[in-house]
Amino acid sequence: MGARAGKNIGIIGGGIGGIAAAVALHRIGVDVSVYERAERLREVGAGMMLWPNATRVLRELGLLEQVLARSGENTHFLVRKSTGRILMSIALGQFEVPAVCMRRADLLSILLGALPNECLHLGSEFDRLKQLDGKVRLYFKDGAEVEHDAVIGADGIRSRIRAQLFGESDPLYRGYTVWRGLARYEGTAITPGFNSESWGKGMRFGILNTGHRRYTWYATANVSPHHLDGPNGRKQKLQRLFAGWHEPIGDFLEATSENEILKHGARDCAPLKQWGKGLVTLLGDAAHPCTPNLGQGGCMALEDALVLAKSIKDEMSLDHALRRYELRRIHRTRHIQQRSLLMGYIGQWQNPIFVTGRHIVTRMLPAKIFEHNLRKVYSYQT
Ligand SMILES: Cc1cc2nc3c(=O)[nH]c(=O)nc-3n(C[C@H](O)[C@H](O)[C@H](O)COP(=O)(O)OP(=O)(O)OC[C@H]3O[C@@H](n4cnc5c(N)ncnc54)[C@H](O)[C@@H]3O)c2cc1C
Repeated sequence: MGARAGKNIGIIGGGIGGIAAAVALHRIGVDVSVYERAERLREVGAGMMLWPNATRVLRELGLLEQVLARSGENTHFLVRKSTGRILMSIALGQFEVPAVCMRRADLLSILLGALPNECLHLGSEFDRLKQLDGKVRLYFKDGAEVEHDAVIGADGIRSRIRAQLFGESDPLYRGYTVWRGLARYEGTAITPGFNSESWGKGMRFGILNTGHRRYTWYATANVSPHHLDGPNGRKQKLQRLFAGWHEPIGDFLEATSENEILKHGARDCAPLKQWGKGLVTLLGDAAHPCTPNLGQGGCMALEDALVLAKSIKDEMSLDHALRRYELRRIHRTRHIQQRSLLMGYIGQWQNPIFVTGRHIVTRMLPAKIFEHNLRKVYSYQT
């Protein structure tokens, strides 16, 4: 039966990681409660990539069919110059599950559909916790208190639980900002299933097939963390920055409304040496915040959720189960955090000599090297 019999676990944070963990734990018979500070559960914004390591998790949770019905399949990744010239075409590989892109809101609603409503406690902002006599007591901002057998901090990159366990640490801004949007596109400039990222000097533009003729796009630029878009707004700012880039970048920007363009600084934290203490652990961005360059932050949160549930199912005591979960996850997530950081560093090069060198090397290198490395990330089994 493992550590799960008759146990109740509290999860702080109702993002993709927290809800996926609740679904995975609920499926093995654990009594779960998710505490989310927002009054409504929602994932705003564009789409996200779910690579085979994530769709494999969703299949195991019994949710893959629903995901496939609401997403677009991606089979190749093109690296291009801002002129459109292809520098490399990477085949994403044949797995038993596909790589897809879908709206975040759709993924969250599918996950929520697998969780009884009574597990969710909205408008509950966690303040602090205390561990005493084999229990974890949670204190909320509104004065409420509750006790659980174990607690999972899935409260994102600025995690209060992480701060309480290991001290305050501000996320690190990595020198560039990412704008994102969703656009409908009916033209012929994109081959179905072919994602792309186009490289300029200190700027990139990515296009991901989100299905049903919708595409998620992202744009990056080296700007200060306090950068303002200017009096004419985000859309015009991006149209100016990416003027002259290849088709259909201009069409995508044109087709996206100003108030639907999201903007985030690329941030992460140095990898943690330890994720938990006693009956408390971390999950998702709270444990391993990652720059978005590999599109793996949410995928890793899904993996965490399943590994956590399996560890609790297999171990006899909850604290052993949490340590086992951390041991199984910490090396992989650190590796992906570091690779993502490196990809962003190279992708944001601005010096013309470095940029030309990067393009020459990318054109000459066999795509197989990248395919081999990506296969290792995508083939992960929980
Ligand atoms: C530009 C960009 C593009 C990305 N693209 C991809 C992609 O293509 N594929 C991918 O897999 N990942 C991608 N990611 C990463 C992905 O978005 C994150 O890794 C993922 O959302 C993390 O989920 P989470 O549940 O751990 O944290 P979050 O989504 O941050 O959720 C944390 C939740 O905790 C709640 N919370 C916080 N504090 C408290 C508190 N004190 N009390 C109660 N509730 C609290 C918050 O309100 C929130 O709902 C991208 C990220 C960025 C910035």
